[in-house]
Amino acid sequence: MLNLLIKNGLILDGCGNPGFFGTVAVEGDSIHILRGDASDLRTKRTIDATGKVVSPGFIDVHSHSALTILADPRHEPKVHQGVTTELIGIDGNSYAPFPSEKEFRRFLRYNSGLDGDPDVKVSWSSVSDYLAMYDKKVAVNIAYIVGNSPLRIGAVGWQKKQATKAQLQNMKALLREAMEDGAFGMSTGLDYPPGRFADTDELVALSGEVTRLGGFYHTHSRYWYGDRYLDPFKEAIEIGRRSGVPVHITHMFRRVTNPGGARPILGLVESARDEGLDVTFDCFPYAYGGTRIIIVFPEWAQNEGPEKLLDVLRSPDARERLRNEVKPRGLTWDEMWLTYFKRPKNKKYEGKSVSQVAEMRKQHPVDALCDLLVEEELRVSYFAAVIDPLTINDFVTHPLFMVGSDALLLGDFPPPMAYGCYPVILGEIVREEKKLSLPDAVRRMTSYPAQRLGLRDRGVLRDGMKADLVVFDPRTIKANAARSNTRQRSTGVEYVVINGQVVIDNGQHTGALPGRALKRGRVSARP
Ligand SMILES: [Zn+2]
Repeated sequence: MLNLLIKNGLILDGCGNPGFFGTVAVEGDSIHILRGDASDLRTKRTIDATGKVVSPGFIDVHSHSALTILADPRHEPKVHQGVTTELIGIDGNSYAPFPSEKEFRRFLRYNSGLDGDPDVKVSWSSVSDYLAMYDKKVAVNIAYIVGNSPLRIGAVGWQKKQATKAQLQNMKALLREAMEDGAFGMSTGLDYPPGRFADTDELVALSGEVTRLGGFYHTHSRYWYGDRYLDPFKEAIEIGRRSGVPVHITHMFRRVTNPGGARPILGLVESARDEGLDVTFDCFPYAYGGTRIIIVFPEWAQNEGPEKLLDVLRSPDARERLRNEVKPRGLTWDEMWLTYFKRPKNKKYEGKSVSQVAEMRKQHPVDALCDLLVEEELRVSYFAAVIDPLTINDFVTHPLFMVGSDALLLGDFPPPMAYGCYPVILGEIVREEKKLSLPDAVRRMTSYPAQRLGLRDRGVLRDGMKADLVVFDPRTIKANAARSNTRQRSTGVEYVVINGQVVIDNGQHTGALPGRALKRGRVSARP
């Protein structure tokens, strides 16, 4: 007997094709597509999807949920948007492999303003053990990519220095092991130490190994590099050209600090493709970006790991220098809103700008940040309007665009994409502004990211594919999160099925945790 029939819905197969009316049958963890009358079929349950769209579950290629989902496996903010698979390990920051629990804890502390530091029991050393932490223990599927920061920590250490030949060999060995254990490739976040200390040659060498093993290179580009506009993306493409690796540029945008428009950036990826390179990108439809606030501190303060950074923040002599050097990244302190405070006395700063916090504390903004980071042991996240709103359209309607949310699920004021990224696209960009057709928008959340990852059994509705499904109302789907009120659940996603199990049932989370740890399909390595 079938588990579930979803009848009368408009089926979008995820490939961008126009929809058709039919029935999706769920048997075990996979689907069949039925045409015509399915009334003779015996099933445990039927969902009537009249007036609704049935599509593959959404795949987020830039997820910061690696740790938060271990602490809160129901993962409501994302599942209510229709997300069924999360790619974690992005920005060069993955949580495996680590040589020791001590190094893991140091990394967790250092990166806490970006990915959080929930109280999770660390019971892994290998990537394989790490992935087992998610398998059938969280709501959504987890795909993992290995970050070059842990590779560097394992082989070189935290310092800013060039890797020796032997250290490079060690990094390659760690990378190989991670990919043999299921990693889909390698990520970098070239703003973030210690991964940012890798030069182009090192990244080419590592990417060569990724290519050999059939993975891809997922990069948060080196935004501070060269002209700080096109040069960071040119470096990413150069790494693809020299190593043969498929390149995925994550959160690609025209930043408010860039000297030129969107066209030259998009032109770079177009000409790379014309040249025969495999280059894709993701972004999200918001003008906001968020990360850990320690990103505004100079490299010399951060080049030896969390203890050194805390020493610098505490030192009166260093303070003097920091007041001159720490700048709000091309913005003003008024435009950077802080979140993720754990100390009760600091909760009052949630959602306030750096200027407001400085005023409340009667301090220079840099002193306020230094003291708060010491009190919060480097936590503290922020988001800011870093992206030129007038160019977002150029990116999200571009043929090479896929969706990556970059959603930070931290604090009381997370950036609004944490709760609204997918519904904003379906509700505003598709329905209200008509800038993308519905089948095309769904394709950019489903089959296209699945193809980038190399997932062969998800992202498309076709017989035998895994039962990751979303049923949403295209007339009502809506993001309710806004800048001033960010933790608002979206509406319009009525059912979400993951591996055949109903996780959102008539708009309510069932508590089911059917997510799997997905692994890169085996490919025979080229000699
Ligand atoms: Zn990033």
